[in-house]
Amino acid sequence: MLELRPNCECCDKDLPPNAGDAMICTYECTFCAACVANVLGGRCPNCHGGFAPRPIRPPGRALIDPPSTTRVHGSDPRCAAAALARDYLREARASGAPSGGSNGSGISGAS
Ligand SMILES: [Zn+2]
Ligand SMILES: [Zn+2]
Repeated sequence: MLELRPNCECCDKDLPPNAGDAMICTYECTFCAACVANVLGGRCPNCHGGFAPRPIRPPGRALIDPPSTTRVHGSDPRCAAAALARDYLREARASGAPSGGSNGSGISGAS
């Protein structure tokens, strides 16, 4: 039985049992379709195998055989880089213009 892990191992996106964009490798390393395409190049970073779309578990069966709740995240450095880039973009958008002067707030490397 598939574990149906609850999130993308790369970007930590939620992937519920009925997610249409969940991809798994033969070991059930679980990623979203966007990360498989844009970050991983279609290859699992853990076992170097390919991916297949994860079958959707019907809601009735999900009650009988509940999906895993163990989140797996951040096993690959490319994913860490992608997460950093995503956070950076999000902060840049949230703060508007990325302008700001350094007014000497005392942050200096003391030897
Ligand atoms: Zn992802
Ligand atoms: Zn794998």
